[in-house]
This record gives sequence, structure tokens and C-alpha cells, in this order.
Amino acid sequence: MFSSLLPPRLLHRMGVLGVCVALLLPVAPVQAQANNSRLPNLGDGAEVPLGVERRLGESIAREIYRDPDYLDDPVLGDYLQSIWQTLLASARQRGELTPELEQQFAWEVALIRDRSINAFALPGGYLGVHLGLISAVSSADELASVLAHELSHVTQRHIARMISQQGKQGPMVMGAMILGMLAASRTASASSMSAANAAIMGGQAVAVQSQLNFSRDMEREADRVGYGVMTGAGFEPQGFVTMFEKLQQASRLNDNGSFPYLRSHPMTTARIADAQARQQLLPPRAPVATSPTHAMMSARAQVLVKPGVDVFRSIAAQANTTTFASATKAKQAGLLYGATMAELDQRNFVAARQYLLRLQSLSGLELSAVRVVRLLTAELALTAGDASQAVSLLEPKAVLPSAADRATRMLLARSRVGTQKPLQGQTAASELTVWLNQHPRDASAWLLQASAYELQGDGLRAIRAQAEARAMELDYGAALDRFKAAQLLAYQMTREGSLDRAGHMEASIIDARLRELEKLRREQTLER
Ligand SMILES: [Zn+2]
Repeated sequence: MFSSLLPPRLLHRMGVLGVCVALLLPVAPVQAQANNSRLPNLGDGAEVPLGVERRLGESIAREIYRDPDYLDDPVLGDYLQSIWQTLLASARQRGELTPELEQQFAWEVALIRDRSINAFALPGGYLGVHLGLISAVSSADELASVLAHELSHVTQRHIARMISQQGKQGPMVMGAMILGMLAASRTASASSMSAANAAIMGGQAVAVQSQLNFSRDMEREADRVGYGVMTGAGFEPQGFVTMFEKLQQASRLNDNGSFPYLRSHPMTTARIADAQARQQLLPPRAPVATSPTHAMMSARAQVLVKPGVDVFRSIAAQANTTTFASATKAKQAGLLYGATMAELDQRNFVAARQYLLRLQSLSGLELSAVRVVRLLTAELALTAGDASQAVSLLEPKAVLPSAADRATRMLLARSRVGTQKPLQGQTAASELTVWLNQHPRDASAWLLQASAYELQGDGLRAIRAQAEARAMELDYGAALDRFKAAQLLAYQMTREGSLDRAGHMEASIIDARLRELEKLRREQTLER
């Protein structure tokens, strides 16, 4: 967990600051362990090299990947990516995302299993989205407005500017602070917030004020640039307007507990005025209608935060009310999808199938919604123990070529492994190899690859795939342990004469990767 990294006193102080993850606002100088960083010391206003910011981001991302609430859900991930990649393309076209920045930064968005409404940008192009945000927004356009804002904090180098300001403390101390802020955003309660107010009154008000003034400019800039990026990407400007209204309403209600986003992105009068000025330039239009695909993704996010049996019951109950028939198709799709997911989570397969049948019988769904329903059908089959049926639902011949997306590939590989048939394991391994050649940083795909090799009894490749998964999660220590285990196995097999030609090639890859990883770990250790 994030919180384990910092002493409680420091964590408390992070809570006091209010959480401003994107803007990294430490108020009082933290008693930094000065010998903590051997990276170049950055003077005030000095340009922070992209590589330094990226490494700082990696040190934070590594902790996020270890957090039990980090979630790689390929279905929600694909939905998020469909928005994110469109925004990146727009930022690129508008010159906000320079080729150098694009190449040097990660541009990865992590899903966090947390029901509060939040999104944050970290150094080096790492971003995070809470599931609560996905279940709270009404359209892809609203989600795009938040993501475009965060994207703009990164492309405008707001984080680098803050690091320069706080340069004396060194980048890695900054990393620890950011983690502390993340932890505080996850755990803040009403009582800690009132303690925060008390502490600010108690003498730090001036420091807080000067920092917040700076952040307000950045917020306005991120709004302005983000608005251009999202509308340039083809999203409806109305999505920005309605999202802003949602945040404003929550702000008026002082609903900071479920909206940590408001603490990191306060609704200042200047921001509101900017938004109103933008809105006045727009022709009056109705809010963007919720699509069935969005309604289902929103429902999925709601169930994946594991809200408890009572909430599951109420989700299912909503699909059985008398008003259901008069609801929009999107609303019906969302309710039936949520009810299926909720019953699936409780392993009530009979009930889940009933909701799924009703979902499948909705006619006239858009293509992307049909895909989402098919994935859920396969997910239910696999979870209920019929892996072969899941395979036949997802195999390339059953799926449109354009639908060979990550979620389909990952679920197909899981289903093939789930059949426990070595031949299916072999097919899964070769299909995953194609994917991994194009996406070598996909840790979950490496883990599935390891299971596929295990099914074939190929221990050497299985251990190497496990090692790669750890390396892609930036946990070089754990990766090295696995690579060494693989090396040992290769020696043993050579002695026994059981290492074939392909095995020898694998062994030389393992040797080379071991050397690379040792170098990376040395760098990682130096930065601590
Ligand atoms: Zn912001």
C-alpha cells in the first residue's frame, strides 16, 4: 500500500495539505533525508529533464502496480483506451504532445478499485482513474473531459514546474510525497478533513495560499488546453459542460468525501467563469445521451469496486422494477449488465444467466455494445466452469476481425488455459506471443503466457514469462529472482541433456535479460 512508504507523521501532513496529486503541492518543507537522492539536484526554475521526470513517475507507478486495489480489467481498460488514444492523437495533432514527450513518457492509465470520484496525473505520463469516476459519468464525453484535463497537466509540464520549485528536496523525495498524497486521497475521512482545516488555520495558511494561487493558474490552463484537446478529438463540448456542472454541484454540497477530485482540482470562481464563457460560445444543445456501451461500462465499474451484497441486491432489484420497461435502451442495458455482473460475482449462475438472456434480447444495440455483451457471455461461461464454451464464443472465427481487441484476446487466452487441455495451452501461447511482440509491456499478458506454458509442461518458458511480468510492473528485484530461477533450471536441464535447441535459445535470452535487469535494478537502487 502507498501508506507503508511514509512515516505516519508525514502521511498526516499530506492529509493536512488536501490532496492535489496532479499538482504535487507540498506546503511546509518536509524534513527530507538529504542524502536520499543521488540524482542531479534541481535548482529553482531549472528545467527538469524528461528522463528524470519519467524515472520519478516509474518509482510511483511501481508502488501502484503493487497496490491490491490496482486493477487490470481488460474490458474497462479497452473502453478507457478507446477514449485515451483518441485524446492522445488530438493532442499530438494540436502540437501539445511533442514527439519527444511522447517517446520519453509512459502515457499509461491505471485503473484503481476505489468508489470515490477521482483521476490523477503523475510524473512521467502515468495517470490513474478511480472506478468511481467511470460509474459516475454519464457519457464517454464526460470521461474524456476529465482525462483531457489530466493529460494537459502532463503535456503542459505542470508537474515538472512543481518539481523545479521544490527542487531542493530532490525528485525521489517528491515521489514519496506524491505517494503520501495518493494514500491520503484514498483514506481521507470527514474527521481528517476537519483536522486539516484546523491545521491550516494554525499557521500554515500563508504557505497554503501561495501554493494554491499557483495551482489555480495551472488548473485554468489544464481546463483550457484540455477543452481544446477533447473537442479536437471529436468529443461533444457538452460533455465538458455537464461534467463541470456535476463537479460544481458536488462542490456546493461540499461532498469532498466521495469527490477527492475536488480537493485536487478545486472549483475556483475563475475556473467557473472560464467554463461559462466557453459555454456561451456553444449553440444550446441537450446533454449528450448515454450510450448502451457507456451504461454497461459504468455498471461494470460499479460492480468491480465490490460495494457489498446489499448494493448487489439493489442493482439486481432495479432490473425488476415496474418502471424498467419504460427506461431508455441504454438504461436497460446498464441495469441488466450490472445485474448479471452482480449475480456472477456472487456465483449465482442461474440468476446471472437470466439477466444475461434479457440483455442479449435487447435489439438494435450498437456494434461496440454487442461486443461488450459477447464478452460478458464468455465471462459467465468461463466463471461457471465451461471454458470450452467460452473459447468457442471468442475464437477468431466467431469474432469480427476488427474485434480482436485486448479484452477478447485476454479472455480467450484465459479460457483456453481454463480448458486444461495442453493443445489449447499451445494455441494460447502462440496467440499471446503475437500480442506480446507488439505489446511487450503487457504484464497481465505475460502472466497468462506463463500459465499457457505451464499447461504444456514448459517450465523454463513459464518461469521466464513470470519474470517478464514482474519486470513490466517495474519490480526488478522480483523479476531478477524469477530470471535466476529460470537460469538454474536451464543449467539443470543442460546437465540432464533435456534442453533442446529451442531451449538453448530460450536460455540465452534469459542470460541476456538477467544482465539487463541487473543494470536496471542498480539504477533503481541508486535512486532511493
Ligand atoms: Zn487539474
